[in-house]
Amino acid sequence: MPALRVPRLRVASHPLLRLLATEADYAVDEPCDGGSVPASQFSSASRAFARAARVSAAPDLQPPFSLASAYETLVMERWVSVEASALPPWALAAFYRFRRAIPRRVQLALRRALIRRQGVPDFPRWPYDESVRDLLAALAAVLASPGREIRFRWFWPSGARAALALTHDVESAAGLGNALRIADMEAARGFRSSFNVVKCWYEIDHGILRELVARGFEIGVHGVWHDRSLFSTRAEFESQQELLREAADAFGAVGFRSPATHRVPDWLAELPFEYDCTMPLSDPYEPQPGGCCSPWPYFVGDTVELPWTLTQDHTLFTLLGHRDIELWLAQVERLRDAAGLIQALTHPDPGYLGEPKNARLYEAFLDQMSEHADLWSALPRDVARWWRHRDNAETWSPADYGTATVTEEGRIAFEGPTPR
Ligand SMILES: [Zn+2]
Repeated sequence: MPALRVPRLRVASHPLLRLLATEADYAVDEPCDGGSVPASQFSSASRAFARAARVSAAPDLQPPFSLASAYETLVMERWVSVEASALPPWALAAFYRFRRAIPRRVQLALRRALIRRQGVPDFPRWPYDESVRDLLAALAAVLASPGREIRFRWFWPSGARAALALTHDVESAAGLGNALRIADMEAARGFRSSFNVVKCWYEIDHGILRELVARGFEIGVHGVWHDRSLFSTRAEFESQQELLREAADAFGAVGFRSPATHRVPDWLAELPFEYDCTMPLSDPYEPQPGGCCSPWPYFVGDTVELPWTLTQDHTLFTLLGHRDIELWLAQVERLRDAAGLIQALTHPDPGYLGEPKNARLYEAFLDQMSEHADLWSALPRDVARWWRHRDNAETWSPADYGTATVTEEGRIAFEGPTPR
């Protein structure tokens, strides 16, 4: 395959360089086409390349595929069209048409049966997929001479090891009624969170929203209706924009999460919000399975995408029947290692954190998180604003740089600046 020679790529023009943001110009020669490698193999191929590059001093060493287009394939879920999706579109449409008529108990049994039948796919790996991290390793191997480290703008403010954002989708009026109780649990441990509310699906008690805001919590928009209409057709998407804007104004919201995480990733850039948090890092269990494979935020057009990275409460406690939070805690350790965004997605509603046993498990999770002094706990809107600032800032203090190195195994390791 002929290689495209691109001298001195600017940081902003290369999405992966934007992630590993430095003030230096780098020359990155990349093959122009990333299409011949299946998305599920980007990870192993880039790790193998990084390992080889680490020991070789060959100046013309090139990644086996375009890292930029591989990254886009992952974070924009372009692999979905080629790798199989769990439910054919007609089945998904039928499921939603009849969903309200099917008792919840039966719905759950059907979902469990589907999970048993299809198993967890090989890609994206669940609960954690390292594909984007491994692409970064390949990039770092290109940028740095063997064994040398790269200095880059650290991912988080004040040298924090990772960011923590607590988010909730409110599915019902009863859920909103329980929001203050969840907020109390969080505030008692020094946390604040966001509550994403559906505009026209249940009666909204604006007194509760005002109280949440007064106490430092954030309100986001969780759709106009809690169904799959928004992304069902382009015409429908466009026709709901005005209603979404009205919801944003009414709730003072700058953030959005799509109902049931339905999405067309390319359209997320057009949402009338500063940020979106619809994309999972990896989730095979939602009606629309998939994932962006990134533990870090990224840009879709001018919208900041904040991937949610912890398994949802409903999946963990109800679908999978876990009676502890070990899966969450193990994921937090992976995200800390990646210096990524720990974004929890839970629901205050009956059947979710509305159940006392689930609420106790969530409290235990909050207790564990409050033990980590090196986490930056922030509202999702502040995470999004930070990410924009990190991308834009002209001047940067040397104290805000971290380092990345490629290990002998071809993995990328991160070292933050001294926490302040
Ligand atoms: Zn929802």
